[in-house]
Amino acid sequence: MKHIIEGKFICLLFAAVVLTACNSEPEAEPEESETSEVTEEPDVDGENSEEEEDSAETTPENEEAESHKYEIVTEEEVFDESSIEALVNRQYLLSEDYVPDDLVRVEVPLIFPDHPEINQLRAPAAEALKEMFDSAEEEDIYLHARSGYRSYGTQEIQYGSFVETHGEEAASRFSAPPGASEHQTGLAMDVTSESVGYELLESFGETAEGGWVKNNAHVYGFIIRYHEGKEDITGYMYEPWHLRYVGKELAHDIKESGLTYEEYILESGIDIEENRAE
Ligand SMILES: [Zn+2]
Repeated sequence: MKHIIEGKFICLLFAAVVLTACNSEPEAEPEESETSEVTEEPDVDGENSEEEEDSAETTPENEEAESHKYEIVTEEEVFDESSIEALVNRQYLLSEDYVPDDLVRVEVPLIFPDHPEINQLRAPAAEALKEMFDSAEEEDIYLHARSGYRSYGTQEIQYGSFVETHGEEAASRFSAPPGASEHQTGLAMDVTSESVGYELLESFGETAEGGWVKNNAHVYGFIIRYHEGKEDITGYMYEPWHLRYVGKELAHDIKESGLTYEEYILESGIDIEENRAE
C-alpha cells in the first residue's frame, strides 16, 4: 500500500517474463537435483503489487455476506503458524524454524516424483488432496501435484537465486521472501494438468481441469488463494493453480463469500491491518 501504482505493472511484467522463462524448463528434467529444481520452480508465488487498495468492504461479493459464518476463524488460529487456518503472506511471516510436525508424502500423480521435499503436505491436507484428485478422476479430470511443502531454507535459496539474477528490488516483486510463502505451512499445493504442459500458468484457470478445481476444491477443504484482480490485497499475482488447505467448513464458507482469505478474515472482525509487520 505504500508503493506506487506503476510498481504493479512493472512487477506483472516481470512475473510474466519469469513464468514464461521458468515454465519452459523444469518439466523436461524430472531427475534434476533438488537445488536446481527448486531454483527453477516456476511457482513464483510472489507477485508484489501493493498499491492503494480498495477497501474489503466495497467488494460486490459482500452483498451476500450476511449469510456467511465468518466466526469460523478466530484471531488465535489466524496468528498461530501451526494452525490449519494460519494467515501467511508478506505481512505475516512464518518463523525461520517453523516446520510442520505432520508432513507426509502425497499419494497422487506427481510432476517431480523424486524430489524429497516438495511432494509433502501436512497429513490432513494430503488426505484431502487425494480425495479431491480421486473425485476429479471419476469425472475424467486428471490433476497432477507439482509443488507442495517448501522449507524456509528452500524458499531462501529460491529467493536468493532470483535476487542474484534480477536484483533484490525486482526479485522482491515476483518472488516470496523466506517466511512469506504459504508452501512453508505444508498446507499449499500447486496443481497442474497435461493441458498446460504440466506447468504453472494463468491459462490453467481456463482449462477444464482449472475450472473443475475452481468449482470443487472447497468441497475437499481447499481454496484458490490468489484471486484474479486481488493482487493488492493478497500481495500475490493470480495463481489458479495454488491451492491452500483450510479445512472443509472454512473452505466452503470462504468459497461462498467470494472473498480472498485476507478479506474473509477482516469480515470476521479480526484486524489484520493493525498487525502488519511493515
Ligand atoms: Zn504455490
